[in-house]
Amino acid sequence: MFQITIWSIPPLLAALVSVGAYLRVREMRRVPGMQALLALLAAVMFWSGAQFVGSLFTLTAIKLLAAKLAYFGIVLTPVAWLVFAVSYTRRQMRLPRPALNLICVVPMITIALVMTNDWHGLVWSRVTFVQEQGVFGMLTEHGPWFYVHAVYSYGLLVVATTILAWSIGHTTGAWKPVIAVIAAPLVVALANLFYLSELNPAPWFDMTTLGFAGAAMILDGGVLRFGVLETIPVVRDRVVEQLRDGVIVINAAGMIVDINESALQILQTNRAELGDKLITSFLTALTMEELSRHDRPDGQGLETILRGRAYDIGTSSLDDTNPDADAVLVLRDITDRRKTENDLRQAQEELVRLAHTDYLTGIHNRRFFMQRLAEETERVRRHGGCLSVLLFDLDYFKKVNDQCGHTAGDEILRAVADVTVDVKRITDVAARIGGEEFALLLPETDQIGAVRTAQRLRQAIAHISHPTTDARRLRITASIGVATVGARTQDLENVLNHADEALYKAKHSGRNAVCCADVSA
Ligand code: GH3
Ligand code: MG
Ligand code: MG
Repeated sequence: MFQITIWSIPPLLAALVSVGAYLRVREMRRVPGMQALLALLAAVMFWSGAQFVGSLFTLTAIKLLAAKLAYFGIVLTPVAWLVFAVSYTRRQMRLPRPALNLICVVPMITIALVMTNDWHGLVWSRVTFVQEQGVFGMLTEHGPWFYVHAVYSYGLLVVATTILAWSIGHTTGAWKPVIAVIAAPLVVALANLFYLSELNPAPWFDMTTLGFAGAAMILDGGVLRFGVLETIPVVRDRVVEQLRDGVIVINAAGMIVDINESALQILQTNRAELGDKLITSFLTALTMEELSRHDRPDGQGLETILRGRAYDIGTSSLDDTNPDADAVLVLRDITDRRKTENDLRQAQEELVRLAHTDYLTGIHNRRFFMQRLAEETERVRRHGGCLSVLLFDLDYFKKVNDQCGHTAGDEILRAVADVTVDVKRITDVAARIGGEEFALLLPETDQIGAVRTAQRLRQAIAHISHPTTDARRLRITASIGVATVGARTQDLENVLNHADEALYKAKHSGRNAVCCADVSA
């Protein structure tokens, strides 16, 4: 029932080597394609394990069953190699499900045919058992499907190896890992071809698994030990590392899976400290829910402040069809942009302020006064109430300029503006609307209140005393016209004209006086 022969040693060796590699890879930091690599090693473990068990027994039923079970590993191996190649090369990206399903069609058929081979012989057209050189072995002749399976497996192997060699060679520039990833499957292929060929001196012995033992050692020495999988970046990674933007890959739970140098600096951490930390422990102002929304419209991006700097955070899923897929966050420092925008807004505000301000006195100008007057008359028309306008002109100001100079004249204009601001209420609008002509808009003020304000203003101006060069004190006065309008006033937008008429009257009454317009209600 049992036999102990040297032919059990190679599959045992292959199984042990792949178990060792499996444990080592599992201990590595999460790298792209790691799941596929583990699946590959598991497939080899299974394949060689089944072969080992089969070689121990002399029972034909067990030998046949072991040979059939080995096919689970046999068909999975090239698929896993391809998935590993693709996911490693494209980093973090998995083969889309439909593509993977399609790739698995032939292997599934192979498995189904192997299991049912007794009925159709499509995989093995003949199975015989021989006793040769002290070994009880199983011999197979291959049926048509075996060749479909073989060609397909070799096809996957060539494609995967090419992808992997190209990508590693292209990005690392190191030749040793490239040779290793080509040599490893080549050793497997040679062992397999030798087993299938006429040259095989022990046709019952499939030395493909022995090839795997060699391949695992080549990969281990040339790739894994090199740290290629862990540290040597592929094209995208190199770009990502050099980006000034921070790039962070997080999984659905928010754990940081991958991070570039800029992001480490932004988060003020290092790879060793990262551990199992969640992204929200760094971006404390944001929630996982916000970070996993990837359909934000333009201009409504996430923003956060970290240590006084503003960051825009772009988020996108690595696989839109899978809600649990990893997501990539791109952190862009927008502090300078924000500052520029702020400066611009301030400059615009300043421009608006200047457009409304009289350059000489600093109070409002004619433009702003007319604008506010229009608003206030409209308000009175709609909502009732009243408003008053004081229009005042300095008396004999030409003489002031002639006697004391234009500069002194300007100073007096500023002094008049100052007392006007002192006299007015906070809601009143004071403006210089002409050379030495001022206006005061008094919302919600009737004629009595307006006249009272006008008199206070007139007295305040009369009290301005400006020193002159010949040590005298210069005194000035103003004539003030008052106009008050209410909701029922017919031509209430003419209130300024009415004030002007009143001002004219005040001038003619001898100046330094207040006159009211006769506005028909
Ligand atoms: P009244 O109004 O009492 O009839 O006499 P007035 O001399 O003030 O009248 P008028 O309007 O003829 O003269 C206005 C003067 O105001 C002319 C100009 O010398 C002076 N003036 C106008 N704008 C400015 C200004 O911006 N600065 C200075 N210093 N003087 C100004
Ligand atoms: Mg004047
Ligand atoms: Mg004047």
